[in-house]
Amino acid sequence: MERSARQVLAGGVVLTMNARGDVFSPGVVVVDGARILHVGGEGSWLPHGGETVVDCRGCLIMPGLVNAHTHACMALFRGLGEGWSRHRWSASAYAPPYMDRAVPADYYWGAMLGGLEMLTSGITCTADRFSHMSLIAEAFDRLGMRAVLCHTLRDVGRAPEWEGALSLIRRWGTSARSRIHCGIGPHAPDTCSDDLLREVRRVAGETGARIFIHCAQSEAELDALRGRGHAGGVRCLAATGLLGPDLVAAHCIYVDEEELRLLADSGSWVAHCPVSNARIEGRLPPVAEMLRRGVRVALGTDWAVSNNTMDLFDEMKCAGLLNKVAAGDAAVLPSAALLRMATVDAARALGLDAQIGSLEPGKAADVIALAMDGLHLEPWHDIPATLVYSAKGRDVRHVWVDGRQLVRDRRPTHIDVGALLEEIGRIRRRIRGAEA
Ligand SMILES: [Zn+2]
Repeated sequence: MERSARQVLAGGVVLTMNARGDVFSPGVVVVDGARILHVGGEGSWLPHGGETVVDCRGCLIMPGLVNAHTHACMALFRGLGEGWSRHRWSASAYAPPYMDRAVPADYYWGAMLGGLEMLTSGITCTADRFSHMSLIAEAFDRLGMRAVLCHTLRDVGRAPEWEGALSLIRRWGTSARSRIHCGIGPHAPDTCSDDLLREVRRVAGETGARIFIHCAQSEAELDALRGRGHAGGVRCLAATGLLGPDLVAAHCIYVDEEELRLLADSGSWVAHCPVSNARIEGRLPPVAEMLRRGVRVALGTDWAVSNNTMDLFDEMKCAGLLNKVAAGDAAVLPSAALLRMATVDAARALGLDAQIGSLEPGKAADVIALAMDGLHLEPWHDIPATLVYSAKGRDVRHVWVDGRQLVRDRRPTHIDVGALLEEIGRIRRRIRGAEA
């Protein structure tokens, strides 16, 4: 166990991401057990004796990044959708025939691979969803990460899938104070009937779970919804009572002005996954316009099948670049806003802003320390711009979740990476069959 009662992270530049925008250079973060006790300038903390001092000289200390949408276990199929058209993506069961050859236990190992990729690149919390979620919850628990997990619901297999979702909630609960807890995850408006979506809202009210859904992610979805009398995915969510500040809707590519107003007025969240949108659909949601109209937006990597990494530093950069091109305006989505979309705003989207997203006393000690000495980073004229456009996940040197150091000098403290990769290799050979 890499936990000391009191740790002092000292000597680094501290980027708090608090509402005042405080930066302490050099600064200190004092961690007591699982919580942050103090954040301030170097001289603001007098050692009491008995603390473990962690030398963070040469590092930028900042809140762990928060991934608003992904499916970690699908790292197993990284790269198998190369060159697919949007029609093939929407028609496929993701990665046939390979998914047919996977057994449930494989998804545990996929979540270990994807989760460890996220953790070592500075993502300390993720919203994750798929099937086999009881196994995936065990993986996130073993990794020591923070996660909000949903068992995906659709009309197909509705009764057993509901049982899977409810048993996940019974096991892990819905409390934001629990490192691992559950939301409710209807798949998308076109795969869930109006009746199922209304049931989701009712169960969310009973359990206190937040709602996570894909929405307006393809033209095929819009076609299907027109047949049910809905002119768009967001309108379908409005009609079934799903919109609200506890809803996180991934993608929202195809939205019109009225739907932007519905999203903004309801306080609903959009999980923006620009790389996945580019690779699957070849289109982006109108994010600059969303922000201008007050729609709340957080960033997600989506799965590695269509990204192909889960690195929020890359995602921030791509979100900036792609949206500037889409808007024809280089001034939209400034770096400071992109950084908030991967920290404080994403924490708020997940209902975790009282727990994480910024370095402030009382919050959970989910902290990363990024090595500042890379040639691609120096000199540090503008911290947000350097983090968004120069930094990479591999620059992250240390990671703590709930005060427990999970990554030290870029290596996990608690996971045998070699053994994990051997297991992934065995799965890869099996699912590729004769091609392996
Ligand atoms: Zn997704």
